[in-house]
Amino acid sequence: MRYVEEFRDPAAAKALIGRIGEVAEAIGATRESPVRIMEICGGHTHAIFRYGLDRLVHEGIEFIHGPGCPVCVLPMARVDEAVEIAERPGVIFTSFGDAMRVPGTKKSLLQAKAEGADIRTVYSPLDALELARRQPDREVVFFGLGFETTTPSTALTIQQAAREEIGNFAVFCNHITVPPPIKVLLDDPHMLLDGFIGPGHVSMVIGTHPYDFIPRDYGKPIVVAGFEPLDLLQSVLMVLEQIQAGRAEVENQYGRVVPEHGNPVSLAAIADVYEPRPSFAWRGLGEIDASGLAIRPAYAAWDAVAKFGIGYGARRAREVAEPEGTRCAEVMTGRIKPTGCPMFGTDCTPETPLGALMVSSEGACAAYWQYGGRRGPEAAE
Ligand code: SF4
Repeated sequence: MRYVEEFRDPAAAKALIGRIGEVAEAIGATRESPVRIMEICGGHTHAIFRYGLDRLVHEGIEFIHGPGCPVCVLPMARVDEAVEIAERPGVIFTSFGDAMRVPGTKKSLLQAKAEGADIRTVYSPLDALELARRQPDREVVFFGLGFETTTPSTALTIQQAAREEIGNFAVFCNHITVPPPIKVLLDDPHMLLDGFIGPGHVSMVIGTHPYDFIPRDYGKPIVVAGFEPLDLLQSVLMVLEQIQAGRAEVENQYGRVVPEHGNPVSLAAIADVYEPRPSFAWRGLGEIDASGLAIRPAYAAWDAVAKFGIGYGARRAREVAEPEGTRCAEVMTGRIKPTGCPMFGTDCTPETPLGALMVSSEGACAAYWQYGGRRGPEAAE
Protein backbone atom coordinates (compact mmCIF):
# COMPACT_ATOMS: atom_id res chain seq x y z
CA MET A 1 0.00 0.00 0.00
CA ARG A 2 2.94 2.29 -0.58
CA TYR A 3 1.81 5.77 -1.65
CA VAL A 4 -1.62 5.15 -0.09
CA GLU A 5 -1.05 4.57 3.62
CA GLU A 6 0.82 7.89 3.83
CA PHE A 7 -2.41 9.61 2.91
CA ARG A 8 -4.44 7.76 5.57
CA ASP A 9 -2.18 8.34 8.56
CA PRO A 10 -4.40 8.80 11.65
CA ALA A 11 -1.98 11.11 13.49
CA ALA A 12 -1.66 13.42 10.48
CA ALA A 13 -5.44 13.36 10.03
CA LYS A 14 -5.94 14.31 13.68
CA ALA A 15 -3.52 17.22 13.34
CA LEU A 16 -5.30 18.49 10.23
CA ILE A 17 -8.73 18.15 11.86
CA GLY A 18 -7.42 20.16 14.81
CA ARG A 19 -6.06 22.88 12.56
CA ILE A 20 -9.34 22.98 10.57
CA GLY A 21 -11.18 23.48 13.87
CA GLU A 22 -8.89 26.37 14.85
CA VAL A 23 -9.36 28.19 11.55
CA ALA A 24 -13.11 27.48 11.54
CA GLU A 25 -13.36 29.03 15.02
CA ALA A 26 -11.24 31.99 13.96
CA ILE A 27 -13.47 32.83 11.02
CA GLY A 28 -16.64 32.33 13.06
CA ALA A 29 -17.98 29.21 11.37
CA THR A 30 -20.78 27.58 13.36
CA ARG A 31 -23.37 24.84 12.82
CA GLU A 32 -25.99 27.58 12.36
CA SER A 33 -23.82 29.65 10.06
CA PRO A 34 -21.45 27.19 8.41
CA VAL A 35 -18.77 27.64 5.79
CA ARG A 36 -20.30 25.92 2.77
CA ILE A 37 -17.75 24.09 0.65
CA MET A 38 -18.89 22.33 -2.50
CA GLU A 39 -17.01 19.22 -3.52
CA ILE A 40 -17.71 19.21 -7.23
CA CYS A 41 -16.74 15.59 -7.88
CA GLY A 42 -18.87 12.61 -6.91
CA GLY A 43 -15.70 10.66 -6.20
CA HIS A 44 -14.92 13.18 -3.47
CA THR A 45 -18.45 12.86 -2.07
CA HIS A 46 -17.94 9.13 -1.69
CA ALA A 47 -14.50 9.57 -0.13
CA ILE A 48 -15.88 12.10 2.39
CA PHE A 49 -18.54 9.63 3.54
CA ARG A 50 -16.39 6.51 3.30
CA TYR A 51 -13.94 8.04 5.78
CA GLY A 52 -16.57 9.90 7.82
CA LEU A 53 -14.86 13.24 7.20
CA ASP A 54 -18.16 15.12 7.39
CA ARG A 55 -18.42 14.04 11.04
CA LEU A 56 -14.77 14.49 11.90
CA VAL A 57 -14.32 18.10 10.85
CA HIS A 58 -15.54 21.13 12.82
CA GLU A 59 -19.34 21.42 12.92
CA GLY A 60 -19.10 24.77 11.17
CA ILE A 61 -18.00 23.09 7.92
CA GLU A 62 -20.79 21.95 5.61
CA PHE A 63 -20.05 19.86 2.56
CA ILE A 64 -22.34 20.67 -0.36
CA HIS A 65 -22.40 17.88 -2.92
CA GLY A 66 -21.92 19.09 -6.47
CA PRO A 67 -22.98 17.89 -9.91
CA GLY A 68 -19.75 16.02 -10.69
CA CYS A 69 -21.23 12.59 -11.28
CA PRO A 70 -21.50 12.25 -15.06
CA VAL A 71 -24.03 9.45 -15.00
CA CYS A 72 -26.24 11.35 -12.53
CA VAL A 73 -26.46 14.48 -14.66
CA LEU A 74 -27.43 12.51 -17.76
CA PRO A 75 -31.09 13.32 -18.55
CA MET A 76 -33.51 10.44 -18.94
CA ALA A 77 -33.93 11.33 -22.61
CA ARG A 78 -30.30 10.36 -23.26
CA VAL A 79 -30.86 6.98 -21.60
CA ASP A 80 -33.98 6.50 -23.75
CA GLU A 81 -31.90 7.23 -26.86
CA ALA A 82 -29.21 4.77 -25.75
CA VAL A 83 -31.89 2.08 -25.33
CA GLU A 84 -33.32 2.99 -28.74
CA ILE A 85 -29.93 2.43 -30.39
CA ALA A 86 -29.28 -0.74 -28.39
CA GLU A 87 -32.58 -2.29 -29.50
CA ARG A 88 -31.79 -1.86 -33.20
CA PRO A 89 -31.24 -5.20 -35.00
CA GLY A 90 -27.57 -6.06 -35.46
CA VAL A 91 -26.30 -3.65 -32.81
CA ILE A 92 -24.02 -4.58 -29.93
CA PHE A 93 -24.33 -1.70 -27.45
CA THR A 94 -21.47 -1.30 -24.98
CA SER A 95 -21.32 0.79 -21.83
CA PHE A 96 -19.48 1.28 -18.58
CA GLY A 97 -21.26 -0.61 -15.80
CA ASP A 98 -22.30 2.62 -14.05
CA ALA A 99 -24.80 3.50 -16.76
CA MET A 100 -26.46 0.09 -16.98
CA ARG A 101 -28.98 0.59 -14.18
CA VAL A 102 -29.76 4.26 -14.74
CA PRO A 103 -33.52 4.53 -15.27
CA GLY A 104 -34.84 5.83 -18.58
CA THR A 105 -38.46 6.77 -19.16
CA LYS A 106 -39.50 3.19 -19.78
CA LYS A 107 -36.46 1.09 -18.98
CA SER A 108 -32.77 1.04 -18.18
CA LEU A 109 -30.10 -0.53 -20.36
CA LEU A 110 -30.08 -3.48 -17.97
CA GLN A 111 -33.81 -4.00 -18.46
CA ALA A 112 -33.40 -3.70 -22.23
CA LYS A 113 -30.69 -6.36 -22.02
CA ALA A 114 -33.03 -8.62 -20.04
CA GLU A 115 -35.58 -8.18 -22.83
CA GLY A 116 -33.09 -9.39 -25.41
CA ALA A 117 -31.01 -6.42 -26.60
CA ASP A 118 -27.31 -7.23 -27.00
CA ILE A 119 -25.86 -4.86 -24.40
CA ARG A 120 -22.47 -5.52 -22.88
CA THR A 121 -20.47 -3.93 -20.07
CA VAL A 122 -16.96 -2.87 -20.99
CA TYR A 123 -14.12 -1.37 -18.95
CA SER A 124 -12.76 0.80 -21.75
CA PRO A 125 -13.83 2.05 -25.19
CA LEU A 126 -10.91 0.01 -26.50
CA ASP A 127 -12.78 -3.15 -25.35
CA ALA A 128 -15.68 -2.04 -27.55
CA LEU A 129 -13.32 -1.42 -30.48
CA GLU A 130 -11.85 -4.91 -30.03
CA LEU A 131 -15.39 -6.31 -30.12
CA ALA A 132 -15.93 -4.51 -33.44
CA ARG A 133 -12.72 -6.04 -34.82
CA ARG A 134 -13.87 -9.51 -33.81
CA GLN A 135 -17.47 -9.11 -35.01
CA PRO A 136 -17.26 -7.28 -38.35
CA ASP A 137 -20.82 -8.29 -39.25
CA ARG A 138 -22.24 -6.42 -36.23
CA GLU A 139 -22.44 -2.67 -35.50
CA VAL A 140 -20.71 -2.01 -32.18
CA VAL A 141 -21.71 1.20 -30.39
CA PHE A 142 -19.95 2.61 -27.32
CA PHE A 143 -21.88 4.83 -24.88
CA GLY A 144 -19.44 7.76 -24.57
CA LEU A 145 -20.11 9.29 -21.16
CA GLY A 146 -18.31 11.39 -18.67
CA PHE A 147 -16.28 14.51 -18.02
CA GLU A 148 -12.78 15.36 -19.17
CA THR A 149 -11.56 12.28 -17.28
CA THR A 150 -13.01 9.90 -19.87
CA THR A 151 -13.22 12.09 -22.98
CA PRO A 152 -9.57 11.46 -23.96
CA SER A 153 -9.91 7.65 -23.95
CA THR A 154 -13.00 7.86 -26.17
CA ALA A 155 -11.19 10.31 -28.49
CA LEU A 156 -8.11 8.10 -28.74
CA THR A 157 -10.35 5.10 -29.52
CA ILE A 158 -12.11 7.01 -32.32
CA GLN A 159 -8.71 8.02 -33.72
CA GLN A 160 -7.64 4.36 -33.59
CA ALA A 161 -10.84 3.23 -35.35
CA ALA A 162 -10.16 5.84 -38.05
CA ARG A 163 -6.54 4.71 -38.47
CA GLU A 164 -7.63 1.08 -38.85
CA GLU A 165 -10.70 2.05 -40.90
CA ILE A 166 -12.98 -0.02 -38.67
CA GLY A 167 -16.35 0.90 -40.13
CA ASN A 168 -18.62 -1.08 -37.78
CA PHE A 169 -17.72 0.95 -34.67
CA ALA A 170 -19.39 4.14 -33.45
CA VAL A 171 -19.63 6.26 -30.32
CA PHE A 172 -22.88 7.62 -28.89
CA CYS A 173 -21.23 10.76 -27.57
CA ASN A 174 -22.59 12.38 -24.41
CA HIS A 175 -19.33 13.74 -23.04
CA ILE A 176 -19.57 16.90 -20.96
CA THR A 177 -17.25 19.44 -19.39
CA VAL A 178 -16.91 20.55 -15.77
CA PRO A 179 -16.37 24.37 -15.78
CA PRO A 180 -19.71 25.48 -17.36
CA PRO A 181 -22.00 24.00 -14.64
CA ILE A 182 -19.84 25.56 -11.92
CA LYS A 183 -20.55 28.92 -13.50
CA VAL A 184 -24.29 28.14 -13.52
CA LEU A 185 -24.17 27.31 -9.81
CA LEU A 186 -22.24 30.47 -9.02
CA ASP A 187 -24.75 32.57 -10.97
CA ASP A 188 -27.62 31.07 -8.93
CA PRO A 189 -28.50 33.57 -6.16
CA HIS A 190 -29.80 30.70 -3.98
CA MET A 191 -26.46 28.89 -3.99
CA LEU A 192 -24.53 30.40 -1.10
CA LEU A 193 -21.16 28.77 -1.55
CA ASP A 194 -17.98 29.88 0.19
CA GLY A 195 -15.49 27.77 -1.72
CA PHE A 196 -14.85 24.68 -3.80
CA ILE A 197 -12.93 21.46 -3.68
CA GLY A 198 -11.96 20.95 -7.32
CA PRO A 199 -12.07 17.60 -9.11
CA GLY A 200 -8.76 15.74 -9.15
CA HIS A 201 -9.16 13.40 -12.11
CA VAL A 202 -10.69 15.99 -14.44
CA SER A 203 -7.94 18.45 -13.56
CA MET A 204 -5.30 15.85 -14.36
CA VAL A 205 -6.46 16.31 -17.98
CA ILE A 206 -7.36 20.02 -18.14
CA GLY A 207 -4.98 21.46 -15.52
CA THR A 208 -5.93 24.19 -13.07
CA HIS A 209 -6.36 27.25 -15.31
CA PRO A 210 -9.92 26.48 -16.50
CA TYR A 211 -10.97 27.36 -12.92
CA ASP A 212 -9.35 30.81 -12.96
CA PHE A 213 -12.77 32.44 -13.47
CA ILE A 214 -13.95 31.24 -10.04
CA PRO A 215 -11.69 33.50 -7.93
CA ARG A 216 -11.38 36.16 -10.63
CA ASP A 217 -15.08 36.67 -11.41
CA TYR A 218 -16.76 35.38 -8.24
CA GLY A 219 -14.16 35.91 -5.51
CA LYS A 220 -14.34 32.27 -4.31
CA PRO A 221 -11.41 29.98 -3.50
CA ILE A 222 -11.00 26.58 -5.14
CA VAL A 223 -8.51 23.88 -4.19
CA VAL A 224 -8.00 20.95 -6.57
CA ALA A 225 -7.85 17.86 -4.37
CA GLY A 226 -6.86 14.20 -4.30
CA PHE A 227 -9.09 11.41 -3.07
CA GLU A 228 -7.45 10.13 0.11
CA PRO A 229 -8.57 11.36 3.54
CA LEU A 230 -5.50 13.54 4.09
CA ASP A 231 -5.90 15.04 0.61
CA LEU A 232 -9.43 16.11 1.42
CA LEU A 233 -8.67 17.36 4.92
CA GLN A 234 -5.73 19.37 3.66
CA SER A 235 -7.89 20.81 0.88
CA VAL A 236 -10.59 21.87 3.33
CA LEU A 237 -7.89 23.57 5.42
CA MET A 238 -6.49 25.32 2.33
CA VAL A 239 -9.96 26.67 1.46
CA LEU A 240 -10.45 27.89 5.04
CA GLU A 241 -7.03 29.52 5.14
CA GLN A 242 -7.83 31.42 1.95
CA ILE A 243 -11.09 32.65 3.49
CA GLN A 244 -9.27 33.60 6.70
CA ALA A 245 -6.66 35.55 4.77
CA GLY A 246 -9.23 37.22 2.53
CA ARG A 247 -7.74 35.51 -0.51
CA ALA A 248 -9.47 33.81 -3.44
CA GLU A 249 -7.19 31.72 -5.64
CA VAL A 250 -6.94 28.46 -7.51
CA GLU A 251 -4.67 26.19 -5.48
CA ASN A 252 -3.53 22.69 -6.32
CA GLN A 253 -3.36 20.26 -3.41
CA TYR A 254 -3.09 17.31 -5.83
CA GLY A 255 0.18 18.42 -7.38
CA ARG A 256 1.54 14.86 -7.38
CA VAL A 257 -0.99 14.05 -10.13
CA VAL A 258 -2.37 17.32 -11.55
CA PRO A 259 -0.06 19.37 -13.81
CA GLU A 260 -0.82 23.09 -13.96
CA HIS A 261 -1.43 22.98 -17.71
CA GLY A 262 -3.00 19.51 -17.89
CA ASN A 263 -2.04 16.57 -20.07
CA PRO A 264 -1.01 17.75 -23.55
CA VAL A 265 -1.57 14.37 -25.24
CA SER A 266 -5.12 14.13 -23.87
CA LEU A 267 -5.90 17.75 -24.70
CA ALA A 268 -4.66 17.28 -28.28
CA ALA A 269 -6.86 14.19 -28.73
CA ILE A 270 -9.89 16.06 -27.35
CA ALA A 271 -9.26 19.02 -29.68
CA ASP A 272 -8.85 16.75 -32.69
CA VAL A 273 -11.97 14.62 -32.22
CA TYR A 274 -14.56 16.86 -30.54
CA GLU A 275 -16.11 20.26 -31.01
CA PRO A 276 -18.19 22.11 -28.41
CA ARG A 277 -21.96 21.84 -28.74
CA PRO A 278 -23.84 25.17 -28.56
CA SER A 279 -25.58 23.76 -25.46
CA PHE A 280 -26.32 20.46 -23.74
CA ALA A 281 -29.02 19.35 -21.29
CA TRP A 282 -28.00 18.44 -17.74
CA ARG A 283 -30.28 16.68 -15.34
CA GLY A 284 -31.09 19.17 -12.61
CA LEU A 285 -29.40 22.10 -14.31
CA GLY A 286 -31.18 22.30 -17.67
CA GLU A 287 -29.50 23.43 -20.88
CA ILE A 288 -26.02 24.82 -20.30
CA ASP A 289 -24.13 26.69 -23.01
CA ALA A 290 -21.01 25.02 -24.43
CA SER A 291 -21.10 22.28 -21.80
CA GLY A 292 -21.17 19.25 -24.10
CA LEU A 293 -18.92 17.82 -26.79
CA ALA A 294 -19.91 16.51 -30.21
CA ILE A 295 -17.81 14.42 -32.57
CA ARG A 296 -16.35 16.55 -35.37
CA PRO A 297 -17.64 16.01 -38.93
CA ALA A 298 -14.22 14.61 -39.88
CA TYR A 299 -15.02 11.61 -37.67
CA ALA A 300 -18.73 11.33 -38.61
CA ALA A 301 -18.20 7.74 -39.75
CA TRP A 302 -17.70 6.85 -36.07
CA ASP A 303 -20.49 9.02 -34.71
CA ALA A 304 -23.62 7.08 -33.68
CA VAL A 305 -25.71 10.26 -34.02
CA ALA A 306 -24.79 10.48 -37.71
CA LYS A 307 -25.19 6.72 -38.22
CA PHE A 308 -28.50 6.19 -36.43
CA GLY A 309 -30.10 9.63 -36.57
CA ILE A 310 -30.63 9.61 -32.79
CA GLY A 311 -29.46 12.12 -30.23
CA TYR A 312 -28.41 15.76 -30.08
CA GLY A 313 -27.83 17.21 -33.49
CA ALA A 314 -30.02 14.58 -35.16
CA ARG A 315 -33.29 15.84 -33.76
CA ARG A 316 -34.52 18.34 -31.24
CA ALA A 317 -33.65 17.32 -27.71
CA ARG A 318 -36.67 15.94 -25.91
CA GLU A 319 -37.56 17.14 -22.46
CA VAL A 320 -38.58 14.26 -20.24
CA ALA A 321 -40.17 14.91 -16.86
CA GLU A 322 -38.53 13.30 -13.83
CA PRO A 323 -40.64 10.77 -11.87
CA GLU A 324 -43.17 12.42 -9.57
CA GLY A 325 -41.98 13.08 -6.04
CA THR A 326 -38.28 12.68 -6.80
CA ARG A 327 -35.90 15.47 -5.87
CA CYS A 328 -32.85 14.41 -7.88
CA ALA A 329 -32.38 17.88 -9.36
CA GLU A 330 -32.16 19.52 -5.94
CA VAL A 331 -29.71 16.91 -4.67
CA MET A 332 -27.71 17.26 -7.85
CA THR A 333 -27.29 20.98 -7.36
CA GLY A 334 -26.57 20.78 -3.63
CA ARG A 335 -29.85 22.42 -2.56
CA ILE A 336 -30.83 19.49 -0.36
CA LYS A 337 -29.04 16.45 1.02
CA PRO A 338 -30.11 13.01 -0.29
CA THR A 339 -31.92 12.32 2.98
CA GLY A 340 -34.08 15.36 2.22
CA CYS A 341 -35.70 13.45 -0.66
CA PRO A 342 -38.87 11.67 0.50
CA MET A 343 -38.04 8.76 -1.80
CA PHE A 344 -34.66 8.10 -0.18
CA GLY A 345 -34.62 4.60 1.29
CA THR A 346 -38.35 4.14 0.73
CA ASP A 347 -39.35 4.01 -2.93
CA CYS A 348 -35.76 4.66 -4.05
CA THR A 349 -33.05 2.18 -3.04
CA PRO A 350 -30.12 0.65 -4.94
CA GLU A 351 -32.40 -2.30 -5.78
CA THR A 352 -35.27 -0.10 -6.96
CA PRO A 353 -33.62 3.16 -8.10
CA LEU A 354 -35.72 6.10 -9.22
CA GLY A 355 -32.73 8.27 -10.01
CA ALA A 356 -29.17 7.78 -11.22
CA LEU A 357 -27.80 9.25 -7.99
CA MET A 358 -28.81 6.05 -6.23
CA VAL A 359 -27.00 3.67 -8.58
CA SER A 360 -23.95 5.49 -9.86
CA SER A 361 -20.70 4.75 -8.03
CA GLU A 362 -20.28 8.54 -7.77
CA GLY A 363 -23.89 9.40 -6.89
CA ALA A 364 -24.56 11.34 -3.68
CA CYS A 365 -27.59 9.19 -2.79
CA ALA A 366 -25.53 6.03 -3.24
CA ALA A 367 -22.89 7.52 -0.90
CA TYR A 368 -25.47 8.31 1.77
CA TRP A 369 -27.04 4.88 1.39
CA GLN A 370 -23.74 3.04 1.53
CA TYR A 371 -22.06 5.02 4.29
CA GLY A 372 -24.75 6.92 6.13
CA GLY A 373 -28.22 6.37 4.75
CA ARG A 374 -29.13 3.60 7.14
CA ARG A 375 -28.02 5.48 10.23
CA GLY A 376 -31.35 7.23 10.45
CA PRO A 377 -32.46 10.83 10.62
CA GLU A 378 -29.19 12.14 12.03
CA ALA A 379 -27.72 11.61 8.58
CA ALA A 380 -29.92 14.40 7.24
CA GLU A 381 -28.65 17.93 6.86
S1 SF4 B 1 -33.26 9.22 -3.32
FE1 SF4 B 1 -33.65 8.56 -5.44
S2 SF4 B 1 -35.28 9.91 -6.16
FE2 SF4 B 1 -34.43 10.87 -4.34
S3 SF4 B 1 -32.85 12.26 -5.08
FE3 SF4 B 1 -31.82 10.30 -4.66
S4 SF4 B 1 -31.84 9.19 -6.61
FE4 SF4 B 1 -33.34 10.87 -6.79
